[in-house]
Amino acid sequence: LSERLGGVFDRLTKQGALSEDDVKTAMREVRVALLEADVSLPVARDFIKAIEKKATGQAVTKSVTPGQQVVKIVHDELVHVLAGDDEDPGELKIDNPPAPILMVGLQGSGKTTTTAKLAKRLSDREGKRVLMASLDTNRPAAMEQLAILGTQIGVDTLPIIKGQSAVDIAKRAKQQATMGGYDVYMLDTAGRLHIDEVLMNEVQAVRDVANPRETMLVVDGLTGQDAVNVAKEFDEKVGVSGVVLTRMDGDGRGGAALSMRAITGKPIKFVGLGEKMDALEEFHPSRIAGRILGMGDIVSLVEKAQQTLEAEQAERMMKRFQKGQFNMNDLRGQLEQMLKMGGMEGVMGMMPGMGKMSKQLEQSGMDDTVLRRQIALIQSMTKKERANPQVLQASRKKRIAAGAGMEVSELNKLLKMHRQMADVMKKMGKMGKGGMMKKMAG
Ligand code: GDP
Ligand code: MG
Repeated sequence: LSERLGGVFDRLTKQGALSEDDVKTAMREVRVALLEADVSLPVARDFIKAIEKKATGQAVTKSVTPGQQVVKIVHDELVHVLAGDDEDPGELKIDNPPAPILMVGLQGSGKTTTTAKLAKRLSDREGKRVLMASLDTNRPAAMEQLAILGTQIGVDTLPIIKGQSAVDIAKRAKQQATMGGYDVYMLDTAGRLHIDEVLMNEVQAVRDVANPRETMLVVDGLTGQDAVNVAKEFDEKVGVSGVVLTRMDGDGRGGAALSMRAITGKPIKFVGLGEKMDALEEFHPSRIAGRILGMGDIVSLVEKAQQTLEAEQAERMMKRFQKGQFNMNDLRGQLEQMLKMGGMEGVMGMMPGMGKMSKQLEQSGMDDTVLRRQIALIQSMTKKERANPQVLQASRKKRIAAGAGMEVSELNKLLKMHRQMADVMKKMGKMGKGGMMKKMAG
């Protein structure tokens, strides 16, 4: 997408604000990208509407192209939609032990694997005592599978008793979890290849017995559109509290996540990233957003550019420094910047060769008050004096200091500081581009 947008915008305005036409043209590309990433049509449409409003009229930072700027806006909105109001994706409600967690989803979606991964996470990270139970009565192998995983990760599983129904097993799990003093018990239900009546009835019955604190829907992230339909169905029939997207280590483009969030409104809690037991991560909206857009660096680039306090101003100053120019106006600009950035130390620390001076300034008590006084001094100079402070005679110095309500000694200190800084700037200008200004831009 980023390439495509870059191309579009190369043919469009290069500067100023994003016009309505610019945005419209870009949005056509964004729409294609979303659909390619498997986002459903109505979701893509709504999404684009929201973006169009936000993007039109936005100022374009000079240091990025309009295309990059739009990508950033699109990315931020994606994150916004994906995150919803879920502030803590990795958190589960597991108070009031033993807390039941019901795992639901289609067969092969990764339920059993995810059950074990989650159990491991709860036990390793939060020190919870977890009991896992397989309710997959159709496939004895599935019960074995969970038991093996349990041994592997050091988490208890409910002993297998043949011939029990799913509801019976759920009851037994609850009993055992209560008696055994477990914090959490996890119910790994049977899946079907497709949603059917029998499956839903069984899951409902289990839900009614267990009264789960969390009902986690496990869906295969590679199945795109289908995943959303599955989620809708499960939510209507069973009620879903959170979603785990598995196989996100594959080459699925993540569009399902956006549709899922937008259509079901259910928070995506975790993402499965492989078959290993630690391949589970809490959901990071910006990673999925990046995946949908098929980009990596653009966002950080744009963020960097915007963090630059005044990119344009910095550029202008850079040019002046390279020519060895550093007058009182430049100094004032620097002082004002320092005020903004939280004082002298911070700024000086970022500038190579300024370490020593920073110490001196510290000793002379350079704090915000001093910065303000110095700015006031510069303000009481004439334009000519600011451009070339060497012309200052003793009588003028007296008047300037008096005008700012200060002693001449203070003005002299300022002038000395300016000379020192101009010196350093000159040297750095000779060192060439990059270096300092880059550092200052952070
Ligand atoms: P269930 O039928 O829903 O219980 O699915 P399983 O947990 O048995 O998983 C089916 C297959 O998918 C197994 O081979 C798992 O190892 C694999 N699997 C599960 N989660 C992931 C994942 O996040 N990434 C990858 N690559 N494979 C996964
Ligand atoms: Mg299973």
